[in-house]
Amino acid sequence: MSWEPVIGLEIHVQLATQSKIFSGAATTFGAEPNAQACTVDLGLPGVLPVVNQRAVEMALLFGLAIGADIPPTSIFARKNYFYPDLPKGYQISQYESPIVGPGKLTITVDGTEKTIGITRAHLEEDAGKSIHDLRANASAIDLNRAGTPLLEIVSEPEMSSSDEAVAYYKNIHQLVTYLDICDGDLSAGSMRCDVNVSVRPTGSQTLGTRTEIKNINSFRFVQLAIDHEIERHIQVLEQGGEIRQETRLFDTSNHTTRPMRSKEDAHDYRYFPDPDIPPIEIRPELLSEIKSQLPELPKEKVSRFLTDYQLTESDTLVLTQSRDIADYFEAVYQAATQTTADTSAKVCSNWVTTELLGLANQHQVSFRQVPIAANQLGKLIARITDNTLSGKMAKSLLTQLWSSPQDPDLLIESQNLSQISDSGALKQIVVSVIEANAKQAEQYRAAPPEKQKKLIGYFVGQVMKASSGQANPKQVNQLLNELL
Ligand code: ADP
Ligand code: MG
Repeated sequence: MSWEPVIGLEIHVQLATQSKIFSGAATTFGAEPNAQACTVDLGLPGVLPVVNQRAVEMALLFGLAIGADIPPTSIFARKNYFYPDLPKGYQISQYESPIVGPGKLTITVDGTEKTIGITRAHLEEDAGKSIHDLRANASAIDLNRAGTPLLEIVSEPEMSSSDEAVAYYKNIHQLVTYLDICDGDLSAGSMRCDVNVSVRPTGSQTLGTRTEIKNINSFRFVQLAIDHEIERHIQVLEQGGEIRQETRLFDTSNHTTRPMRSKEDAHDYRYFPDPDIPPIEIRPELLSEIKSQLPELPKEKVSRFLTDYQLTESDTLVLTQSRDIADYFEAVYQAATQTTADTSAKVCSNWVTTELLGLANQHQVSFRQVPIAANQLGKLIARITDNTLSGKMAKSLLTQLWSSPQDPDLLIESQNLSQISDSGALKQIVVSVIEANAKQAEQYRAAPPEKQKKLIGYFVGQVMKASSGQANPKQVNQLLNELL
């Protein structure tokens, strides 16, 4: 029997507001424990929550970006449960009337497009953090995170492989960072994902019993957790066993999952509308105002890059993977063409995707931490176009710019690096190299054309050596062809 996996994701996106969703406390990451928890976050009696308007606007931005229905009224609800990191004894979330209704997102896996339904997206507050390894016989609570705004994005159970699930997770990550509603920092927990997995006999229309694996942040762990869970389900079912609906944890050390608790149902939480927060009316004027704030989205950027810069699709996808990289590339191209008008977009793209991203990778820094300004790289590339620099010289300058960012022209001047493009000077070098290698020159002249192509490399090498690497290779080739 063959099995078909079914996967649905619940993604928690931490919204990049300055203050919390129901209080004025700051949301900055990494503060002293409990330094950013005010009376509302502590759940002291008698305090009242006030909805952060920016959080609502960010949720609406997301909703509009996925073409979702936006219901005219949205209601906050209390989700009741006990846990030490939840001082009120309930989490303020949304239940029956989420801020964002059904929408969709199209992913591409192995060149095939698939549209995944998004059931809903709702606003809620994050809980605090329990720390169990700080004290010997006690757990510590840090409530800085309590009340941080989250947008929970719930997908339909419509993905059928871990590859599709990862593509979907990456697409959401790309979208929320393009929208600038989340910093996208997975290592700081700015996005977390619960994966729901079931399997069913191939062709079957009914869903199998699912398990839910909580709180995974990296793309790789999403993939590993799903693959392991699919395999486990199939093994249990093929041995005649039954899958219990439960919540599981992913063990990052051995890439397996283990039970955490049996699955609770919605009625266990005794949801009810929060009497402290009036329903939110989404006026049409607000929606059109938010619509006007929508930036260029990933798919729009891709098609603009393809037509405006005539780049290949694969280059375009690398450049548009994040808004930072795309903006940087455009600034590089602008600076390069301002310096030397005919600098090609393809060359700029190569320098950003291969050289610069390569260096970032080598130094293990994120793109935001790249020290070289876009206009510095643009100018450097322009100096290749106008033949001041060879590609090789420019690469060595790029490494120098990385450690001391500056105007590349200053570096070129201070190191006397400019390529010998003065054809008079170059011609002299070429003539003397040919004279010094009379035997090879004779061989060259006697050889058939295909063989000549190989033999010329020897002369190019000699000329480069004689010019200490400063000759322009294209001109060297032209001169050698002429003079030999
Ligand atoms: P909850 O986990 O809050 O009880 P839902 O029933 O709404 O909520 O489902 C949560 C997630 O589980 C959704 O992303 C949904 O697509 C997914 N899901 C539901 N049933 C299945 C199933 N049988 N197999 C895989 N995923 C499922
Ligand atoms: Mg769930």
